[in-house]
Amino acid sequence: MENSNVQKKTKGGCLCGEVQYEIYGELKDIVNCHCSKCRKFHGNYGAYTSIQVENLKITQQKSLRWYKSLTDETPNVHRGFCSECGSSLFWHPKDQPYIAIAAGSLNPPTNLKTMGHVWCSQIADYYKIEDDLPQFDERWST
Ligand SMILES: [Zn+2]
Ligand SMILES: [Zn+2]
Repeated sequence: MENSNVQKKTKGGCLCGEVQYEIYGELKDIVNCHCSKCRKFHGNYGAYTSIQVENLKITQQKSLRWYKSLTDETPNVHRGFCSECGSSLFWHPKDQPYIAIAAGSLNPPTNLKTMGHVWCSQIADYYKIEDDLPQFDERWST
């Protein structure tokens, strides 16, 4: 069977449904970001998958807004959210070829797993990381 042209498609969106997107291709497993900016943006740590920008198709975006997150360690980051329901959705470093997508906005089942933790140097004081996955003080490094 020749099925290499059949691309995997994943859908997701915000709480109210006014922002909808489709992702083509395989998603990376989830990385939890414990930085102080994600904590404010998500209300807790950020859980993200990521994809090449061209593989994300935003199919409904009337209420999608972008907050220019000047304080991120990565320059020129825009954080995408729904202005209707407040769902936090995207983390997009404009100079990079990829975009991070909030895992909670993916429609289940995701068939993904969590693979590790970044920016543990900025972790909140009200929880601890209880798993044995890799932890990095700052960004992911191998
Ligand atoms: Zn919404
Ligand atoms: Zn973060």
